[in-house]
Amino acid sequence: MKKETKLINAGRKSQWTRGVVNPPVERASTVVFDSVKEMKHATANKTNQVLFYGRRGTSTSFAFSDAMTALEGGAGCAIYPSGTAAITNAILAFVKSGDHILMVDNAYEPTRDYCDKILAKLGIETSYYDPLIGAGIEALIKPNTKVVFLESPGSITMEVQDVPAIAEVAHRHHCVVMLDNTWSAGVNFQPFDYGVDISIQAATKYIVGHSDVMLGTATATKAYWPQLRESSYIMGQCTSPDDLYLAMRGIRTLNVRLQQHQASALKIAHWLSTRPEVETVLHPALPSCPGHEFFQRDFTGANGLFSFVLNRGNSAAITAFLDGMSHFKMGYSWGGFESLILAISNVNSMRSATQWPYQHPLIRLHVGLENVDDLIADLEQGFARLNQALAAQS
Ligand SMILES: *Cc1c(COP(=O)(O)O)cnc(C)c1O
Repeated sequence: MKKETKLINAGRKSQWTRGVVNPPVERASTVVFDSVKEMKHATANKTNQVLFYGRRGTSTSFAFSDAMTALEGGAGCAIYPSGTAAITNAILAFVKSGDHILMVDNAYEPTRDYCDKILAKLGIETSYYDPLIGAGIEALIKPNTKVVFLESPGSITMEVQDVPAIAEVAHRHHCVVMLDNTWSAGVNFQPFDYGVDISIQAATKYIVGHSDVMLGTATATKAYWPQLRESSYIMGQCTSPDDLYLAMRGIRTLNVRLQQHQASALKIAHWLSTRPEVETVLHPALPSCPGHEFFQRDFTGANGLFSFVLNRGNSAAITAFLDGMSHFKMGYSWGGFESLILAISNVNSMRSATQWPYQHPLIRLHVGLENVDDLIADLEQGFARLNQALAAQS
C-alpha cells in the first residue's frame, strides 16, 4: 500500500470502527465483565488489544496505536500525554542506575534537561555527541552504554544525521537506537528501514496538526516493544480518547498538509537565501544545511519547519523584526496550520559537545498553510523594520 492510501486506512479496521468511518471516542476507567470467564479472558490478555481497564486503553487508543504502527512500522506503539513524556519514558524503559547513554548535542531542550536533571540523579550518565559524528560515534561508546539517542533533523539548528551509520555501530555494541522522528512525522523518513529500534514523535506537532492537543508516541520493533509497552504501563502513561480522536483525524490529512507546508517553506527558504540580511539558511533540502546529503539519501520530503541565521541585528532590532509580524506569530510549538516565528540569540547555551559558529541570532520559522506570498511579504516588512532599527541606532 502506498503512503497516501495507508494514511486513509490506518487504524480503521471494523473491530474499532464498528461500521462508521472513524473509530469512535470510547471513554472508560472501569471495564465491567458479565462472567468470571470473560474477566479471566481479559486478565489473561491484558497486554493485547483487549478491554481490561481504562489505563490499558480502549478501542480509540487501540485504533490510534494501530494507525501509528501502520504509519511508522514496528510491532506496536505506546501512547503518552506529550512528546516529552514519550521521550523520557522510552529512555527510562531501557536504562538502570550505572548505565550510560549517548545523546545528540542538538536535542530538543527538555530532552537535555531530562538527562541532566533526572537521569543524572538516578545515576545514569549522559554524554553528548556531535550530530554529524556518523560512524565516529564508536569512540564514545562505553561498556555500560545502553541507549544511543538521535534527533534528525535536530531541534532548532536542523543538522541531519547519518542514522544508518550510527545505528550500525550502536547495534554492534548492543545499544538501543532511539530517534526523535517528530520532524518527518513518520511520513518522510521510515525509521525502521534505517536501523532505528524505537521511533518517538511529539504527535502534538504534525500528527495532530491543529495546535490543540498534547500527545506523544513511541513505536518499537518486535524485539523492544514488550519492554517499552510494559514499562510505560507501569509508569501510568495513558491519554484521553478525545485527544486520540483528534490525532487520528489529523492523520487523514497529514500527507496533503505536509506537501503544502513543504512547498511554501521551500519557496520561502530559497527567497531567504537571496536576502542580504541572511547569513545562511538551515533547511534540510538546501545544500547549506549540515547533513543535507543524508536528507537527500534518506528522506522522501520535508515540511514547514526550518531556520535561518541573520548576519546583522541586536536585541532592539530583532524585537522590531518580530513585533510587527502579522502572520508569523511568536510561539514555541510547530506543526499546526498556522505560521510561527522564534528568535534564538544564544544557541551555544543549548549545546555542549559542539560549538555554534554564528554570532547573530537564529530565526526558526514554521511555515503554515497561509498564502505563501502573504508570508513572504510579512518577512520582507520585517527585514525593513530590522534595517530601520539598525539605521536609527547608528
Ligand atoms: C515539541 C517537541 C517535542 C516535545 O513534544 P511535547 O508534546 O511538546 O512534549 C519533542 N521533540 C521535538 C523535536 C519537538 O519539536
